[in-house]
Amino acid sequence: MSDLTSFPFFAGDQWHDPASGKWIESENPADGRAWARVPDCDAADVAHAVAAAKTAFNDGPWGRLLPAQRGRVLRQIGDLISANADRLGEIELRDNGRTGTIAPGLREGGWQVDSWHYYAGLCDKFEGRIIPAELPDMHNYMSWEPFGVVALFLPWNAPIGTLIWKLSAALAAGNTVVIKPSEHASCSTLELMKIFSEADILPAGVVNVVTGFGPSTGAALVRHPDVRLISFTGGTSGGQAVAAVAAEQVKPVIMELGGKSPQIVRADADLDLAAKGIAGAIFPGGGQSCISGSRLLIHADVIEDFTTRLAALAAAEVVGSPSDPDSTIGPLANRAHYQSVLTKIDAAEAAGHRLILDGRSACRDAGYYVGPTIFADVPNGADLAQTEVFGPVASTEAWTSDIDVIRKANDTPYGLAAGIWTADVALGMRMAARIEAGTVYINNYFNASSQSPVGGFKQSGYGRENGIEGMRCFMQTKSVWLATNPGPNDPLDA
Ligand code: NAD
Repeated sequence: MSDLTSFPFFAGDQWHDPASGKWIESENPADGRAWARVPDCDAADVAHAVAAAKTAFNDGPWGRLLPAQRGRVLRQIGDLISANADRLGEIELRDNGRTGTIAPGLREGGWQVDSWHYYAGLCDKFEGRIIPAELPDMHNYMSWEPFGVVALFLPWNAPIGTLIWKLSAALAAGNTVVIKPSEHASCSTLELMKIFSEADILPAGVVNVVTGFGPSTGAALVRHPDVRLISFTGGTSGGQAVAAVAAEQVKPVIMELGGKSPQIVRADADLDLAAKGIAGAIFPGGGQSCISGSRLLIHADVIEDFTTRLAALAAAEVVGSPSDPDSTIGPLANRAHYQSVLTKIDAAEAAGHRLILDGRSACRDAGYYVGPTIFADVPNGADLAQTEVFGPVASTEAWTSDIDVIRKANDTPYGLAAGIWTADVALGMRMAARIEAGTVYINNYFNASSQSPVGGFKQSGYGRENGIEGMRCFMQTKSVWLATNPGPNDPLDA
């Protein structure tokens, strides 16, 4: 009998052990010790969860609820999550080590509760329309419909946050779902299912969770013929693999992938504001954010001054256990990722880039800790400037021409986000128009809200989350033609 906390998988409002009897251990990255286990679901477990979701969509009450009724359920879910913020925050902290930023977002007024309340209000705002088609005696109208069973794939860096963005929009649109959290951080998703189940808030089968590895459990879910849409957040290579399997059945996919987001600092910028904003855009959460703005393009006239300020802020971060209230940066989320970040720092040093702050020994504790790290004079073509590190690592490069810096900012396969720091806001807006990214920040960074769509350009993905666009991605249109041709004996024909 294992002394780890077991989180079985969740299908049809029931808890299930894996058919194969295999489990995956989940480590607490703060000390590197296993604390929980989740099922390694096989194709039979996946089929079980998809069948529950299909029955709930076709036969259960969920598919027949009016949009306003769905909205009332979503509002209640938002309130339920806010009442359980600490419970969810505590599990997520233990599972992926993010320092204490989770629970506030889950409380009343926090952005993750807002998502439910926002989509609760949007449920009954999706109106169809009558189309004045150019055909005589025809009435044509279109309506918005859900896809049916949709699969939601989550990464490990912000499981509850990414889940809530997807789930609130998918349910608002009327779908039923099967969630596949990351094998490194599944426990907060399963804890949320416990909260749903205890509150009896959703009909059985509307939300289901399978856990396991991407290429086995994940691929079985993508390949299941009753899954009608995939919403994926993760790395580019995982996204490519999922899209390739989905293409076998011409299955639509929403992709939220990685990035290497540039931050342009002009010579006229408020350097204090820029340094604080940029430090806050890279180092919190150990740099494990898809929009981490870590490719710093700084005007040559201010690069020395700016880098001194940034390095001072970075050096003041306290790297340590997330349960210590003094820590501002916790561990990286898992052992494999920790090793990958260290390898990338070693490689950048070996490539000859100037290391001005080294976070490799920032914490002597046993967990997966890396502190803020800054490399200077890194040309945009270098590996470090082109590859996502997903750790607290920044690189700087000097520039002198506004046109060239925009070219440089765009010179990457990614296009997730970008930052511009300048006193000339009108010029900042013109620069924003030329930046190839789904989100551009001027004199701020990292803001997001339920109303505003987020997503990528280029290899950072397609489809959107949040806002009206986010809900639309979980819906398809149907066009209905009604013949009104009166025939030869029209009683209205006087
Ligand atoms: P990942 O691609 O390894 O895994 C994401 C999910 O997909 C996991 O549940 C995984 O099990 C599954 N998966 C992986 N390969 C699969 C396959 N071949 N078939 C089916 N499923 C598969 O990503 P990760 O390492 O967990 O997350 C980190 C990445 O996520 C980073 O690149 C980060 O930039 C990105 N991310 C993007 C956003 C965004 O909104 N754009 C947000 C958060 C994280």
